[in-house]
Amino acid sequence: MKARTRTTIFTALVVILLLAGTSIVLTGCTSTPVSESVRMDNEERPVLEFEGFTQMMISSVNTKSELGAHGIPELEELTIPISVKQFDLVTFNVTDLRNRIQKGSVSLRIKGNSYDAELKRTEFDIRSVDNGIYSYRGTLKGVNDGRIALTISSRAVIAEVTIGDESIWVKPVEPRKRMKGGEHRLHIVYSSKDTELPTRHGKIDNGPVRLSSQTPTEEIRALEVATSGSTTPVELLVATDNKFYEDEDDWELTAQGIIDEANNQFNRDDIDLNLLVVDYDKSKRHNLSNDPDIKSKPLDTFKKHFPTSYLDSKSADLAIYLGGYDADGNTHGETWPYLGGRHAWAQMVKDWYLGGWTYDGSPHGRRVTTIHELGHFFYADHEGSAGYRQAYDWWSGLNHYYTVMWSTNKGSNGKYEFSSDDYNGDSTHDNARRINETKGVVANYNIDDNGTPCNPWDDDGIITASEIMSAITLWSAQTPPAPGCDLLTASDIISMITTWSNQS
Ligand SMILES: [Zn+2]
Repeated sequence: MKARTRTTIFTALVVILLLAGTSIVLTGCTSTPVSESVRMDNEERPVLEFEGFTQMMISSVNTKSELGAHGIPELEELTIPISVKQFDLVTFNVTDLRNRIQKGSVSLRIKGNSYDAELKRTEFDIRSVDNGIYSYRGTLKGVNDGRIALTISSRAVIAEVTIGDESIWVKPVEPRKRMKGGEHRLHIVYSSKDTELPTRHGKIDNGPVRLSSQTPTEEIRALEVATSGSTTPVELLVATDNKFYEDEDDWELTAQGIIDEANNQFNRDDIDLNLLVVDYDKSKRHNLSNDPDIKSKPLDTFKKHFPTSYLDSKSADLAIYLGGYDADGNTHGETWPYLGGRHAWAQMVKDWYLGGWTYDGSPHGRRVTTIHELGHFFYADHEGSAGYRQAYDWWSGLNHYYTVMWSTNKGSNGKYEFSSDDYNGDSTHDNARRINETKGVVANYNIDDNGTPCNPWDDDGIITASEIMSAITLWSAQTPPAPGCDLLTASDIISMITTWSNQS
């Protein structure tokens, strides 16, 4: 009853504000500009607007509680990242904005300057499962280092506009249950310059969790070479629990924006890997949320409810669980890595640890964590690891930056890029090279075959390391496993290895 009354008042407020249009100046609005954020424009305009489609609600908000003074109800429900120190509250005419964007361009106003953005729907979105949510990327006309990434559904939009070393974010902040049929969902707009670094030191994960004994590297290299010409995309299943499903405005919008950025990195010339999403899978969200181990062992629990047989049935090589809980401990991700690992977990909400936060669960943080975990699938590793597959860090002016595989969370100083001899790195800091080498093997984890009738090793239904070794020997020697059988392929062996790795 109480909640319904508040909702009614809130709806009335939104209607009044929308009728009044953008010219309204909210009385009693106390704004205390943060020193590092210089507003070029008057304070009544948001840091970023899509011109003609944006309505300002409340400008220059420094704390969530200020929103209460403006009649915004149930503040604790709003998903405003803890790292954001100043933001504007806005709504958009999402339907009209979406129609405009489909035409390939939109006008932006950022801190008082106008820009024309040219947008193109991403190949990743076109090739992935059709869910009515669209991802676009583009550039700002006349700005060398300006780019925009945007994902839009029928009611909300997530966008990152980057100019130089500053990113402006647009993010919906209301949970699913506040949907009331209208399209005017609350969003926040903020600059990366108005965010702070974590207050406590935090690790993304504890490094690749090693599977049981590895097949000798030399044989694996042969497999990698045999599959390196593969142009097969890597097919990914994205799943969530009921917490994230309920807390987000639209978890698929959030998820698609994240994986679109991941694909943007994997797509680079020196990696040349295409991700595609076979499903945004919410079908087991209650199974995950009702499992007593979901916070203590998120990755094990995910695998328990999404066994490899399930991944095979969905034609997925890999699966990632976007988790809505602050899991136990001081990490916010985990992956069963290369070779054979097919499951990963990335935490989507802030990580609270010993009276401070180590990870903000912001759109930026979610992307870094997710790309990091996906990187482990392809044997990308942290800093200080052996060989050439190490993470990289560098200074630019007074800023210290880190590539995405860095082991600790560095807030907005953590980049989406992998280390690479071509951009952020050198010959001994080259995650990109290792991903390029392993992608063919990973892309063959799920093979759509009708069984291999001549397998001499599956009589007991269990695959052992020695059976894999004898299969590799037969494959290398181009000898069929039995008279009259076909030759083994690299895919057959990869299939054996993944089955073996996933046996418990
Ligand atoms: Zn890691």
